[in-house]
Amino acid sequence: MIDKKDAELLKEKLFNNKRNAWNLKSSDEKEKIFEYSKNYINFLNNSKTEREIISSSKKIADDNGFKDINEFSNLQPGDKIYYINKDKSMYLAVIGKDILKDGLNIIGSHADSPRLDLKPNPLYEDSEFAYFKTHYYGGIKKYQWTTIPLSIHGVIVKTNGEKINVNIGENDNDPIFTITDLLPHLAQDQMEKKLKNGIDGEDLNLLIGSIPYDADVSEKVKLNILNILNNKYGITESDFLSSEIELVPAFKARSMGFDNSMVAAYGQDDKVCVYTSLTALMNINNPETTAVCIISDKEEIGSMGNTGMESAVFDTFIAEILNKLNVNNSNVLDKVFCKSKMLSADVDAGLDPIYSSVSEKNNASYLGRGIGLCKYTGARGKSGASDANAEFVAEVRNIFERNNIRYQISELGKVDIGGGGTIAYILANKGIEVIDCGIPVLSMHAPYEVTSKLDVYEAYNAYLAFWKN
Ligand code: MN
Ligand code: MN
Repeated sequence: MIDKKDAELLKEKLFNNKRNAWNLKSSDEKEKIFEYSKNYINFLNNSKTEREIISSSKKIADDNGFKDINEFSNLQPGDKIYYINKDKSMYLAVIGKDILKDGLNIIGSHADSPRLDLKPNPLYEDSEFAYFKTHYYGGIKKYQWTTIPLSIHGVIVKTNGEKINVNIGENDNDPIFTITDLLPHLAQDQMEKKLKNGIDGEDLNLLIGSIPYDADVSEKVKLNILNILNNKYGITESDFLSSEIELVPAFKARSMGFDNSMVAAYGQDDKVCVYTSLTALMNINNPETTAVCIISDKEEIGSMGNTGMESAVFDTFIAEILNKLNVNNSNVLDKVFCKSKMLSADVDAGLDPIYSSVSEKNNASYLGRGIGLCKYTGARGKSGASDANAEFVAEVRNIFERNNIRYQISELGKVDIGGGGTIAYILANKGIEVIDCGIPVLSMHAPYEVTSKLDVYEAYNAYLAFWKN
């Protein structure tokens, strides 16, 4: 019989030893993890919508010497540029030495998160309360959005083009808003319903006021609210027709757990990948290969529209780089894409022990084990999946292992339980080598999502290594 100690050594050598990474970190590294997450939490608290993410990201880019591509007539290796698409999506690049030979190294995330949008005709009065009607955006469990503090963010654009920015409910002196739910005493019928039908989409109505206008007219509470809004913003009810107002949880991003090991916050899908990739790009100087960072919009509703990844605006941005490097020609763009590599940076379902029955433990990602790679997503028999080529997976593993990055490779849940996708397939369809590569999250798409600070910092390091490689 072989000695037990030798067998343990052999196991260490031959097994894919998946383990929690906290105890592999020195106290110095732990300090960096906690420091980084403080800045991440700040970023989240200042940017809850895609427009706010783009404005915060622009500020970070400007502070780090990036400039709008339109300010350049010619580009040189080392130049740092960005393009902002309709205030909702953004592409950044640091120009490398030979774009035609090396293609691009892309990391792409998305800034939009599930939320409630206002309907075009949102305002009404019922029984001396004023309400906003909403239409949910993305995949939400509707019952999670009642009886929590909500803030109002967005823009109202008047017919003369004047744009009014709205942000109410984040400042401690601001009022917040909420959607009411039925008291348990009278909820017998509601409680018998299936969870998905417990709250109706048409009942997600935001309570916004209750004081009547002091005159003998109809709809006095609605009138009072419109009067307040008119005094504050100079708008009338019709101006909601050309507005984009989003309701998001008003609670702040916070450090979580007695050990402060986690972050609880709204919108970590996918703002966590926005922040980690963006801050990594700020540390890329004179790369061999052109480094490109995508902050996309509309991922949660299928990436459609002119700010979503399906639009051709990203191609136009890269074509403009080729123009300004004086290397553009017919089909050069297609060739550059075929040589390019990408990490599709999006969150991953972390294994939740309370709901572990939906995960297959050998192929789940765990909080605290580092960045998560997903070779493929999709549903059922990999339907709709972008499946990364083994050769490319090996390349990414090699980069991570050389740079001491803790990583795990997982699937989104058990076979046939559900499924999902990211922007990966859109870029893969152009010929780019793509793999999903993000951070495991608990309570994904809920008003409050949970990540591990270790994974957040590991993602930053992973993205840095990918671009520096
Ligand atoms: Mn996502
Ligand atoms: Mn999502």
